[in-house]
Amino acid sequence: MKAAILKAPNEISLEEVANPAPMPGDVVIRVRAATICGTDIRIYRGRKTAGVRYPSVLGHEFAGEVVDAGGHAGLAPGDRVGLCPFIACGHCHLCKTGHENLCTGGSAVGYEIDGAFAEMIRIPAQAVAAGNLRHLPDHMSYEEAALVEPLSCVLNGQNKVGVSSADTVVVLGAGPIGLLHVHLARHRGAKRVIASDPNATRRAAALAAGADAVIDPLAEDALARVREETGGQGADVVICAIGVPALARQATDLAAFSGRISLFAGFSKGEFAEMDVNAIHYRELTVTGAFGLSRRDFDQSFDMIASRQLDLKPMITHSYPLSDISDALAVAESGAAIKVAVRNA
Ligand SMILES: [Zn+2]
Ligand SMILES: [Zn+2]
Repeated sequence: MKAAILKAPNEISLEEVANPAPMPGDVVIRVRAATICGTDIRIYRGRKTAGVRYPSVLGHEFAGEVVDAGGHAGLAPGDRVGLCPFIACGHCHLCKTGHENLCTGGSAVGYEIDGAFAEMIRIPAQAVAAGNLRHLPDHMSYEEAALVEPLSCVLNGQNKVGVSSADTVVVLGAGPIGLLHVHLARHRGAKRVIASDPNATRRAAALAAGADAVIDPLAEDALARVREETGGQGADVVICAIGVPALARQATDLAAFSGRISLFAGFSKGEFAEMDVNAIHYRELTVTGAFGLSRRDFDQSFDMIASRQLDLKPMITHSYPLSDISDALAVAESGAAIKVAVRNA
């Protein structure tokens, strides 16, 4: 089969490799669509190296068709499926206390396990046994199913920071993750959703995703605009949806008294940010992190998309065959696209 092999930072090439060799109980899937994540770009560019293997295959947002069902009841060749790509160990302290997304003994497709930028992928038996596979309803496209994973991470972030109908939410960065935050905040009934991004295409996409207002932080004073949009209060919730350290500082300025801040996006290794500690102290701000997803986040996100409570189809703006993986990565990195899909016929 063909697979996009990451050999070193900045080096990915399409190569002929052996088909996946399943162990007993493993499932093999023909990848039909995979979407490119910001993390894939960070790994490709060498800005994220922890846990990264060379050579390996990236891609953790995907869906496809079962080729080898591994003897599992209820699973057959030809079934259309999506996968929660993180496989927690299931027995550590974090797994047992409801934080399986933080499990350090787990493994993930696209990291420890070769990922979806390939014609086929092997799913370990343990993931199937743990319920990480879901059948797609007929009306759900492979691309939509691929978006369940990033939506799951966004759901985890909004659960941690606590977005509800009482909140005005400011999302800093309207790339794919920021837009998912806009979609989800809207779905949760947030009172007002405001997105900030210097890229005009992304601001337009944020409005289309349901934002009430957008800010161009290069052309206007974001703090003044947020005050104006919130009756002088500031935002109840500020979500940093892009890993720019300066935004962490801006978030404290934008937050209302008793506001909450989500440092959702990952930062490059070794980066630090200054935050106004007195703002956090005197205004009683809460700062939350968010990382990864649990099976519960995956199931809930899957159902939101499958039941059309969220329509994320417009987010897929570009689609390339696997043979054009380099072009797909380049356009994802350029910011010209929202979400880029890599397809196998
Ligand atoms: Zn991702
Ligand atoms: Zn664990």
